[in-house]
Amino acid sequence: MSNNCAISNNTNVDLDFDRKHIWHPYTSTVSPLTCYPVESAQGVEIVLEDGRKLVDGMSSWWSTIHGYNHPALNQAAKNQIDKMSHVMFGGITHKPAVDLCQKLLSIAPSSLNHVFLSDSGSVAVEVSLKMALQYWHSKGEKRSKFLALRNGYHGDTFAAMSVTDPDNSMHSLYKGFLPQHVFSQAPSIGFYQQWDESCLDDIKHQVASHHTDIAAIILEPIVQGAGGMRIYHPNYLKGVRALCDQYGLLLIADEIATGLGRTGKMFACEHAEIEPDILCIGKAITGGYVTLAATLTTSHVANTVCEGEAGCFMHGPTFMGNPLACSIANASLDLLATGEWIQQVRNIESYFAKTLPSLTKYERVKEVRWLGAIGVVEARTPVNMETIQKAFVDAGVWIRPFGKLIYIMPPYIIDTHSLDKLIEAIRLTLDRSDCFQS
Ligand code: PMP
Repeated sequence: MSNNCAISNNTNVDLDFDRKHIWHPYTSTVSPLTCYPVESAQGVEIVLEDGRKLVDGMSSWWSTIHGYNHPALNQAAKNQIDKMSHVMFGGITHKPAVDLCQKLLSIAPSSLNHVFLSDSGSVAVEVSLKMALQYWHSKGEKRSKFLALRNGYHGDTFAAMSVTDPDNSMHSLYKGFLPQHVFSQAPSIGFYQQWDESCLDDIKHQVASHHTDIAAIILEPIVQGAGGMRIYHPNYLKGVRALCDQYGLLLIADEIATGLGRTGKMFACEHAEIEPDILCIGKAITGGYVTLAATLTTSHVANTVCEGEAGCFMHGPTFMGNPLACSIANASLDLLATGEWIQQVRNIESYFAKTLPSLTKYERVKEVRWLGAIGVVEARTPVNMETIQKAFVDAGVWIRPFGKLIYIMPPYIIDTHSLDKLIEAIRLTLDRSDCFQS
């Protein structure tokens, strides 16, 4: 057993093999961080191999919105797997995919009429960028640039990386391989702050200077997630939509993190009452069960793409429209269709409004912010990952911070008692200097 594991020996998982041979996300093979073996998960709890139960504050990277081991999602998976787990989507269609696309179009902004299903969030972003490029190609214009925002994050694949914040990400590492795009300053005015039109100055300037090269503006509406957990003013989004209209640019809304209720609206774009030309959905689409994503667009974009030289959209992943994933997604969207999530997310938001401000009394805390089922504590210095992770586990919660950010995005079904546990655990770590770098 690895001495890296601050957990009991009572586990079936070969942790030594894991540590020596298995790559975990953003983790060194040379000095890996501890990995906690999980045996099962139920509702809002993750059960460790040693029997400890942790309240989940992460929704497994923001996807498990209905909680783990949900009977309706389990049943959907079981029903479908007995019929067919997978069949190719080229030249074939099936009820799970058709039902899912109907459901997606019924909840998405009304101007979106076409759905492209894919494997993961990053691929949905790649698809959106390719759609925009092919759109301009069909119109006889070679536009090869995108405008993206500082502090934005859009995924780990190459095109997605290229529109992710250049300083906050892997740009320098992959210099020479990543195409260079135009970046505008991140929106500086918070969701609840007083709006000031000057917040749009930089993006107006960038668009005015580069609009003939730009195919689309890509952004995460209202909440910039992995690039800094920043929650910005809806008027910024309104202003960007107006700029796109003024200059004839496409607007790509990456709602992979924000979509399906997380910010209190079905889609975060609704906070600004705008509609994008292309919309990316992922993560919560299957309730966090299996990987699936979708890129939606208007008839205008879809038809322009297909009227071009290629005659079709040039993308077709092997597992496109995977029936198993679609069936689970249908069950997940049916749960959302009950509307229960609205009150659940509202309750979480009110809970954050009541509790998070009290954390600013800690010297270590720079700022707290929240929206919908997203609560963020920004520290003044980065966390000490190994120590803080163990402190959270010892306190009976699963919270995975990054950099200076301790945030919680729990399953929508979480109750006050479990939220108390999450906040108390954060309080405990804020009292401990060993949980933070100096
Ligand atoms: N876009 C956004 C806004 C995301 O938050 C993420 C994942 N954190 C992605 C794209 C990439 O999704 P995936 O990890 O499923 O490829």
